[in-house]
Amino acid sequence: MSMTKSEILARLTSGDVRFLRLQFTDILGFVKNVEVPASQFEKALAGEIMFDGSSIEGFTRIEESDMLLKPDFSTFLVLPTFSEVEGQRGRVARVICDVALPGGEPFEGDPRFVLRRQIERAKQAGFEMFAGPEPEFFLFERDAAGRPTTITNDHAGYFDLAPIDRGERLRREITNVLVGLGFEIEAAHHEVAPGQHEIDFRYTDALRTADNICTFKFVVKRVALEYGLHASFMPKPVGRLAGSGMHVHLSLFKDGRNAFYEEGGEHGLSDVAMRFIGGLLEHAPGLCAITNPLVNSYKRLVPGFEAPTTAAWSTSNRSAMIRVPAKRGVSTRAELRLPDPACNPYLALAAMLAAGLHGIEEQTEPPPPIQRNIYKMTVRERRAHRIRNLPANLGEAVEELEKDEVLRAALGEHVVDHFIAAKRAEWNAYSAEVHPWEVERYLGEV
Ligand code: GLU
Ligand code: MG
Ligand code: MG
Repeated sequence: MSMTKSEILARLTSGDVRFLRLQFTDILGFVKNVEVPASQFEKALAGEIMFDGSSIEGFTRIEESDMLLKPDFSTFLVLPTFSEVEGQRGRVARVICDVALPGGEPFEGDPRFVLRRQIERAKQAGFEMFAGPEPEFFLFERDAAGRPTTITNDHAGYFDLAPIDRGERLRREITNVLVGLGFEIEAAHHEVAPGQHEIDFRYTDALRTADNICTFKFVVKRVALEYGLHASFMPKPVGRLAGSGMHVHLSLFKDGRNAFYEEGGEHGLSDVAMRFIGGLLEHAPGLCAITNPLVNSYKRLVPGFEAPTTAAWSTSNRSAMIRVPAKRGVSTRAELRLPDPACNPYLALAAMLAAGLHGIEEQTEPPPPIQRNIYKMTVRERRAHRIRNLPANLGEAVEELEKDEVLRAALGEHVVDHFIAAKRAEWNAYSAEVHPWEVERYLGEV
């Protein structure tokens, strides 16, 4: 339930809250904030706090840098105090903001606005998208100076118990904090790789899910720090171990009913579901740049680690990019296994929605589902099943995004241009380096 401005003000001035954090996200997905003390609470809630947009990645030019932060009251939270010292300084509340131009109109470069625009587009067609993410992460030891290492905090595996699983207490602590912030946590468990964990929270509408992902990552990192550990959402922090994905379970609702379900439909799925899947598969190469935005993201998308390598769908198998879990009826959904937790959740959900809606509009029929292990199929077999490869690296993904008119339009020129420029620079910087693997492999023998 959203609070009103006066309710929030009453909560803020009732005593212990001394700071209000106004939060938003830059184009690359980094959460930013400016904090105001009590004297500015009123002004902040009235949406009158200005900031210099020219210093935010991809936001704006220096000549038109003034921007306003418009708080979305439904996102108001009083944050927990993570340590005693912190508690003594007074509590901190946060509210997520939409970014506006000085005249009050929404700023095109605000990722939250990009998602709002796609949600509105879906609404015009009578749909609302729900999304349930499954972010995975690693817990690493810190060295004596507090710097993160790649030494995992345990050697456990999937669903292991304590004492082999050494993340149990921390996962419970994270869960408690999140529950205190209003999250409905569905499950928490050790993942496949040593030191790797997953905590799942309940699906909700796309905008709230994107907000929740930002809050989730903040809480995980913050609580890990209290335990002297480093939590990382890097997609593939250690070679030859499983990477961290952020699968997203997607469904569309229409008139209060799950529009993906059709009793008696093929696989129990409606045309809407099939075409939504068709759209996701068709736009997968360009989508990758948004859902898998780091050089490192593509080290996760390799055979053998339950991460997708090709654009295919399935009703069961975990090597496919889209899996439709067995549940039908109101729980009918498609699990997109492509994204990793480094993505900007606003842009990623906007791009997924745009790709799916385009599939519905164009009546894009997906190829038949692939129930076999795709990692083991030959190139010829994959071709025969119309299975396309995903981009092999960030450079290829950026090129695909540049060619994808549907995704470009969905993201808007401002975001797409800045995103592509930043990612191309990242790819070029990486490509210009000589990596330890190359030296180890070639220096001695060539
Ligand atoms: N860690 C795997 C990935 O990279 C997913 C494992 C799972 O199915 O939860 O996507
Ligand atoms: Mg998992
Ligand atoms: Mg999953």
